[in-house]
Amino acid sequence: MFDSLTSMDHALDLGTAAADALLAVQIGSLTRQQLALGVIRVQQTIDLFTLAQAQFMAAADKAGVWQGTGARDMADWLTNTTQTSYGSAKGLLELGETADASPEVAAAVAAGELSAASATTLHDAVTKAPANADVGELVDAVKGAKPTAARKAAERWKELNAATTETDEEREDRRYQRRGVRSGQPVDGMVTTTVTLPVLQSRQFINAINFVAGTPGQGDTRTVEQRLADGLTMLCDALSKGEVKGGRERPTLLLVFDVDAWLGETNTPARTANGDRIPACVARHLAENAHLQRITQAGSRILDLGTVSRLASDDQYRALLVRDGGCRWPGCEIPAAWCEVDHLVPYPAGPTDLINMVLWCSHHHHEKHRPGVHVHGDAHSLRIQLANGTIIDCTQRRATAAA
Ligand SMILES: [Zn+2]
Repeated sequence: MFDSLTSMDHALDLGTAAADALLAVQIGSLTRQQLALGVIRVQQTIDLFTLAQAQFMAAADKAGVWQGTGARDMADWLTNTTQTSYGSAKGLLELGETADASPEVAAAVAAGELSAASATTLHDAVTKAPANADVGELVDAVKGAKPTAARKAAERWKELNAATTETDEEREDRRYQRRGVRSGQPVDGMVTTTVTLPVLQSRQFINAINFVAGTPGQGDTRTVEQRLADGLTMLCDALSKGEVKGGRERPTLLLVFDVDAWLGETNTPARTANGDRIPACVARHLAENAHLQRITQAGSRILDLGTVSRLASDDQYRALLVRDGGCRWPGCEIPAAWCEVDHLVPYPAGPTDLINMVLWCSHHHHEKHRPGVHVHGDAHSLRIQLANGTIIDCTQRRATAAA
């Protein structure tokens, strides 16, 4: 114990001496090249210190250093005692936990192969990795990667190494339950609202407000963030004036999906134009309401482009508007134009016939597709059995209402 304390004190003294020596350098007399080198080397040194501090943080957390101090957790304790930001304290703790869980991460940061910032993005993947997962493989894959790329790789790795007991549908449902919109307290007359959505709805959200915001005109000095904020404000304004129409007119997302996965023969994820991977089960639901175009491809060569079509024809859709008049869930008032078409028995096992199709709002469409939910009957005598056994009677909603 005494030896450890002495060596920690000695190391900290050396660190202070190193910083003092750096501060004493006559920076003004350095060349451009030397300045660049200096900035890089200091960053690399800071990363080493960050790793060391992170490991202290994780150990201090385990030792309960913050308990009984009035702080709500270790990061809060560091914030109170050093006036650093809570976000960076939290990041430190996460880096420490990551290095703790994986010696490969600690070694890569110590060797300068992985920045402390990139290593921090691996926290969830590494600390929640299943016992048989090869964390070393992930660390190798992200060496030299910036935080954004490392985070993406970690997400992908997590998917591949997810506990095998969870099906795609269950994972998607678990994520979906985390959706939310949270508004903070006003600060200087402004409120920050955080929107948490599944990646696809998030892309759709941004696409929609980007569309409403319009293309920036000449001399438009607004930032992207300001334009999107204006788009959101205009959209809400239009809704309050009754000018927002629903319906199936405007596709807002482009999704590439293998035919085999669409037919349910494989579970190869679909991809958005942003490169997001969308689980096959989600893409199959979306396809029911999307414009579909067949693309035949050999390697990177496009051999053929099919015509654009829809699973449910426009005639069938209009018939559904009249027949269902809105979401079929009892008590739900969402109008037909805002609803999605659902195949009660999924295509291609179930036919694209009116008797197999109903309208749901987005929420109830999700409820119907949740794991453990069963469909009884057809569009004329529809009952939904929830996972807890409750039976929901979804007989026809209204006879006449339309969009
Ligand atoms: Zn509904």
